Amino acid sequence: MQRIGVMTSGGDSPGMNAAVRAVVRKAIFHGIEVIGINRGYNGFIEGDMWPMNLGSVADIIHRGGTVLHTARSEEFTTPEGRAKAYSNVERFGIQGLVVIGGDGSFKGAKVFHDEYGLPVVGVPGTIDNDIAGTDYSIGFDTAVNNVVDAINKIRDTATSHERTFVVEVMGRHAGFIALKAGLAGGAESIIIPEKPFDIKEICNKLLRGVKRGKLHSIIIVAEGAASGLDVGKDINEITGFDTKVTILGHLQRGGIPTATDRVNASLLGSKAVEVLLEGHTNKVVGNRNSKTIFYDLEEVFDNKKELNTELMELANILSI
Ligand code: ATP
Repeated sequence: MQRIGVMTSGGDSPGMNAAVRAVVRKAIFHGIEVIGINRGYNGFIEGDMWPMNLGSVADIIHRGGTVLHTARSEEFTTPEGRAKAYSNVERFGIQGLVVIGGDGSFKGAKVFHDEYGLPVVGVPGTIDNDIAGTDYSIGFDTAVNNVVDAINKIRDTATSHERTFVVEVMGRHAGFIALKAGLAGGAESIIIPEKPFDIKEICNKLLRGVKRGKLHSIIIVAEGAASGLDVGKDINEITGFDTKVTILGHLQRGGIPTATDRVNASLLGSKAVEVLLEGHTNKVVGNRNSKTIFYDLEEVFDNKKELNTELMELANILSI
């Protein structure tokens, strides 16, 4: 293998730059050339690609977002779009591809491999941390810390005004951010898509808390489980408490990546190059029990990542 391509695709996540940097430098270390593909599969189709060198990834490890930019590409889901992308594979002499993104991006990589035989390796990059088979995906740690930072600030006002706050966080299909940030932020209740919730039970807990002198309450809601606004309205109707709602939205996704995200992203990017050089394809790299591993892409598609029930139980116990 003489030349590989690297792209970031799907939603951006802090730490993607560290992964790109690791891919480029690890490849160059092994004498392999790297073509950077801008704007995910859109750039792949349009030939928006460029040769990267050691300097191309200088001064980016601490930056959020992705210097390669990212996109969602409708055209790549069509055979015609992928045919255009393949013409660029030939034009640029790419012999292997590293795709940093979520499971949608991996599906695209798999389809492309099946059609054109290009070896592909996925690197999990999504703040939701919902990719099956890996304990960790790039950006999750920074996102959780962003949410905890927001909860800390909201808590000041919640205490001062003796109010109930509902904080809606990201997580369309998974409650990993809500659960970890809720536990770290000392939330009273955490509402996640994986577990049905009973608003009356949540309200009873709030009422019990007020009875024993609690000054404030914070409820975390993952966007995929319920709308924060609806939850706030219901709490207000049932308890009569003045309830404020904050929707954190894209604030969660940006910002300086944490050291954990930088180090893990570097490990994963480096591993992806190794996996390609060893001649594998249709793999994804990941982290299991603090070890960097790789496994079949199918495992991502065929499984759903389970929530950590120990964390869930603990969050319930600690917020009685
Ligand atoms: P996030 O977790 O942030 O949503 P993602 O990688 O899952 O990231 P998607 O929008 O689902 O984001 O996928 C990114 C891109 O991958 C899509 O815009 C599309 O171009 C490509 N893709 C997804 N599924 C397929 C598929 N079945 N066939 C071909 N391409 C696909």
